[in-house]
Amino acid sequence: MLPLFDAYPRLKDALPYVRLGELPTPVREMPELSREAGIGRLYVKRDDVSGAVYGGNKVRKLEFLLADALRYGAKEVMTFGCAGSNHATATAVYSHQQGLRSISMLLPQPNAAGVRRNLLLSYASGAELHHYATSRAVSAGVTRQSAAHQRRVGRPPYVIPAGGSSPLGATGFVNAAFELSKQIAAGEMPEPDLIYVPGGTVGTGAGLMLGLHAAGLRSHVVVVRVTGEKFAGMQRILSLLNETAVMLHASDASFRETHFTEEGVHLIHDFYGEEYALYTRESVDAVLRFRGHGIRLEGTYTGKAAAAMLHDGEKGGLRDKVVLLWNTYNSRDFTHLIETVDYRRLPKAFHRYFEEDVQPLDKELA
Ligand SMILES: *Cc1c(COP(=O)(O)O)cnc(C)c1O
Repeated sequence: MLPLFDAYPRLKDALPYVRLGELPTPVREMPELSREAGIGRLYVKRDDVSGAVYGGNKVRKLEFLLADALRYGAKEVMTFGCAGSNHATATAVYSHQQGLRSISMLLPQPNAAGVRRNLLLSYASGAELHHYATSRAVSAGVTRQSAAHQRRVGRPPYVIPAGGSSPLGATGFVNAAFELSKQIAAGEMPEPDLIYVPGGTVGTGAGLMLGLHAAGLRSHVVVVRVTGEKFAGMQRILSLLNETAVMLHASDASFRETHFTEEGVHLIHDFYGEEYALYTRESVDAVLRFRGHGIRLEGTYTGKAAAAMLHDGEKGGLRDKVVLLWNTYNSRDFTHLIETVDYRRLPKAFHRYFEEDVQPLDKELA
């Protein structure tokens, strides 16, 4: 049973839920790295192993979102992201597992080996892949594809927003906070002072903030922005926080409706760099540093969050703190699932990710 449902049994009846992942995920202490990095005690929350086939933070969101799609009797789901989207890939993998077809509406992004791997896994999971040059073209594509699919399947696809960050998707991370609270109570780690997470579409950060508050923990979430302000800015965090609180309160009146304001949100902008999915020197250094201690991160999200944390450590601000880095990246090896997939079977617009070079900093991670 989910810790959130243990605490709020009425939510269990009200909310759609299907088990996809392997929860709870472990917490791991990093004693050597914390000494080196000037951090009191450093832990990693291992959401990288949240699913048997494909882990990462999207599994927790999809447990609610795909259950909702199934509840509506959907046959297909449609979602959004950039070409290498971990969210689109996780949606493809777990939809397929649930007997749903998935449609990914994807935008361009800087190239990396991980982009190629995700595209191949999406394809191997039966996803229908579309590539658009601009978000305007995506909008037109949604109209066209929804109509085409409605004609073919008899109903339009169930739409999952980019990153799975709706109130229902964020609920996966409200539960994650209750999961952490249980691990703290069981003595697996002390209550963290700070929890660092990357902020992409901010369902992870907002869900955790709301859940920690509801679970009575005092840990502060540090959201390290890795996308544009529109997707991960203060306004977006606040609206998702408050909409999720309203939804949960409406589903179970004993879930207190709290109103969050800017003062309660710790958002860092300085590690974004120039562009979404364009690595920074600091991000790559942080990935390499964690790799030396057995934790796999990547340059788009977790490397930037880890870089912010290591920077704060270097400045001396974390010396007496308990710090948790939430590892939102998949670490399951799925090579065996994509080995035999020839990229030329993908729609032509995606071939360039396989034929063009990866971004220079990605080579340091090869
Ligand atoms: C999607 C993703 C994120 C961002 O999570 P949000 O809830 O969208 O902020 C962070 N890390 C990884 C590895 C991701 O794939």
